Amino acid sequence: MKITDHIKKAKDKTLFSFEIIPPVKGHQIQQLYDNIDPLMEFNPPFIDVTTSREEYVYLERDGLLDKKLTRMRPGTVGICASIKHKYDVDTVPHVLCGGFTKEETEYLLVDCHYLGIDNIMALRGDAMKDEKYFQPTKGGHAYAVDLVKQVHELNCGNYLHDTVDSDNCADFCIGVAGYPEKHLESPSLKSDLRRLKEKVDAGADYVVTQMFFDNQKYFEFVDAAKKMGITIPIIPGIKPIAVKRHLQLLPQVFRIDLPQDLIDAVDDCSSNKDVRKVGVEWAIQQSKELKAAGVPVLHYYSMGKSDNIKAIAEQLF
Ligand code: FAD
Repeated sequence: MKITDHIKKAKDKTLFSFEIIPPVKGHQIQQLYDNIDPLMEFNPPFIDVTTSREEYVYLERDGLLDKKLTRMRPGTVGICASIKHKYDVDTVPHVLCGGFTKEETEYLLVDCHYLGIDNIMALRGDAMKDEKYFQPTKGGHAYAVDLVKQVHELNCGNYLHDTVDSDNCADFCIGVAGYPEKHLESPSLKSDLRRLKEKVDAGADYVVTQMFFDNQKYFEFVDAAKKMGITIPIIPGIKPIAVKRHLQLLPQVFRIDLPQDLIDAVDDCSSNKDVRKVGVEWAIQQSKELKAAGVPVLHYYSMGKSDNIKAIAEQLF
């Protein structure tokens, strides 16, 4: 079922959902199930599964360093299919521009269609670690909007080199990313919002936001988006702070601000157990306010750990 239909069906009720990360290559899928199991009691209508970009690794062969491109956490579509089957829940594979040609993307979408996956999250992906800026893959897309257009065309029966009867083709519901504190490469929030509007005009059905720790930023973002004519659901993404290092890491990686009260509370903690408590409590307060404001879904970034998400969900769902 489409995410937008889940939202319509829930009427004014706020839904619970979360995002998981595939295990490192060679590890067991059971570790994912162990993290999902405790969260199923909160009835998530959908679960997102991220896709990792390929990265360069250096392998030593005959005394020489060999540079190879590899994806450390592959398996997104397979994981989506297995979770869907095991838990009878909708799954949303994250589909990236970076690392994929348009043809590879088409094959991936065909797989998703055959596997009964109704939703996809269309993303550009970040620059690779040794690149300063995002470099499009040869034969791939430069921006998420181009990927949205490809999925939309496929929904209409227009494959890259072929057209089929649209009654027989996929009908994916398309999610895209939004940034309440603007995307790190964007010159301003207004210009980033214009880019978001382009994704919506190209066929996006809903938005999931980057994490934020000050709800005011989300409310202002939603207002500004509405003024720009963006009327599709904007789902807030929430991440509880779990370790002290997040104070430096999150603003650095995602270019987001942390409220001073949160920084002070985390700074005062003498153990990571205390930090976790502060992070969970902050996320609960954020979630309560967002829920009271009538957000359609509260979407949590689990980063592979379910215990803190469970502690939050217990207070809200
Ligand atoms: P875009 O919408 O393409 O925007 C990228 C930048 O380009 C923005 O600054 C935008 O303003 C600008 N821009 C857009 N169109 C144009 C244009 N035509 N001309 C000039 N500038 C333009 N990353 C992963 O690798 N895997 C994941 O699974 C993943 N999941 C995510 C889930 C969510 C909810 C979010 C918010 C992010 C996720 N990311 C993931 C991170 C995402 O890939 C990065 O933030 C990436 O840098 C931008 O992706 P985007 O889809 O927002 O790109």
